Amino acid sequence: MQFKTDFIPPADEPGSALWFIFYNGRMLVKIKNDSCSIPDESDLAKLKSPIIRKQYLGTLDGRQCFAAEFAGNPIADTELAFKDLRGLFGMLEEDLIWIAGRANQLVNWNQSHQYCGKCGKLTEDKTDERAKICPECGLVNYPRLSPAIIVAVLKNDRILLGRNKRFRLPFYSVLAGFVEPGETLEECVKREIREEVGITVKNIRYFGSQPWPFPDSLMIAFVADYAGGEICMDGSEIIDAAWFAKDNLPQVPPKISIARQLIDWFVHG
Ligand SMILES: [Zn+2]
Repeated sequence: MQFKTDFIPPADEPGSALWFIFYNGRMLVKIKNDSCSIPDESDLAKLKSPIIRKQYLGTLDGRQCFAAEFAGNPIADTELAFKDLRGLFGMLEEDLIWIAGRANQLVNWNQSHQYCGKCGKLTEDKTDERAKICPECGLVNYPRLSPAIIVAVLKNDRILLGRNKRFRLPFYSVLAGFVEPGETLEECVKREIREEVGITVKNIRYFGSQPWPFPDSLMIAFVADYAGGEICMDGSEIIDAAWFAKDNLPQVPPKISIARQLIDWFVHG
């Protein structure tokens, strides 16, 4: 599948567009015979309530894609249902999951930037780029991203994994944290590891990145080597952390996340 991003839809609107429609953080999907798909134009009529704040996303294999919000009470339909995006991992094709994530981020941004944060006036869509502009004071807001680092710390043949109290499932993962203003990514890696488990790291190298649309993160992944100190949990975020060997891993995050890609890289080399 090939996705091509854009923000202005072509003048003609063919009937085969795909619609990523959200209601309270849940996304509308079509479920038929245990298979899950994205609703198209023909399904919109069944919603019986308007969809608002439509945004053009681009094309997927030539099909137009739109994001929007549902402005009514969720319908009771045997085929159409609003589902938690995380719950759709493994049910929808991975390419569709990432477009849904992109749609989710843009819907959240659009919803939370209806008014100017500086002077309070109603904002307008900018016509030459994906942004919102205040007609009163000129403040421009672009879709917000919150960069976060995620890092696999290695010590001899073991990897540092921790259990975060916010994890919904009882798994252990590589450590992560949000980048602060004025900080480089490398400084963030050092600070987060020191704050969360009390150790220092060295030889920080880039691994990869992944958008994480809950609600607007961009995960930037690194590998680093242990430099010094003893594991000492911060108690507020990390409730347990330890060094794990390849053949003795605890429960780890699901396949789709870059956290799991880091752990798989450690296991398979
Ligand atoms: Zn303003």
